Amino acid sequence: MLSGQITCDRCGKLIVKGSLCPDCEKNPPVFNQLKSWGLYEGPLRSIVTGIKFQRKLGLIPYLIEPLSQAIIAWGPVVDWISAVPLGHQRQRERGYNQSELIARKIAVRLDIPYSDRVLTRIRETHTQVGLNAVERQQNMMDAFSADPDLCQQQSCLLIDDIATTGATLNACAKALRSAGIEKVYCFTVARTSLHPNSNPISMEVNK
Ligand SMILES: [Zn+2]
Repeated sequence: MLSGQITCDRCGKLIVKGSLCPDCEKNPPVFNQLKSWGLYEGPLRSIVTGIKFQRKLGLIPYLIEPLSQAIIAWGPVVDWISAVPLGHQRQRERGYNQSELIARKIAVRLDIPYSDRVLTRIRETHTQVGLNAVERQQNMMDAFSADPDLCQQQSCLLIDDIATTGATLNACAKALRSAGIEKVYCFTVARTSLHPNSNPISMEVNK
């Protein structure tokens, strides 16, 4: 897990003091915590893009044990695990949702149920490339919906491959919270940057 420096307890960005970054103090995200395993650079970047864009799905099994160990060490208590859903169009084009493939295997390893029915993407979103944090939030607004019947008094762990500003995960968390869920923990394989004022535009990954 990314650690060794002081990071925001909520969103994981670097901070100089206290426990929350200024953004989370002013306008806290809906999710309870966002943690990432590594930075989106070097070999991890090659692995993640290989899985996402080049169909190198054979790489996934190598990630499962270290990712699961990181989640165990972190220790969120959750009722089920799920992944950020792709829009129907993107899923059709790519043929798979890499985050779901990873999340399902982690769920098996951790012996926690996987749910593919709770969260759905109700509208296609534009690519986040070139959008700033505010535009990302707007782009993701109301993109997801969650089934209230499956959310009552539940805590969940939502998994995605890459986080930049956390806008996508926060939009998912918002849908889950409005459907009645109590706690939403978020985990990504990689994080583009931990720096609070990092420019997401140059580092964005086409979702
Ligand atoms: Zn924060």
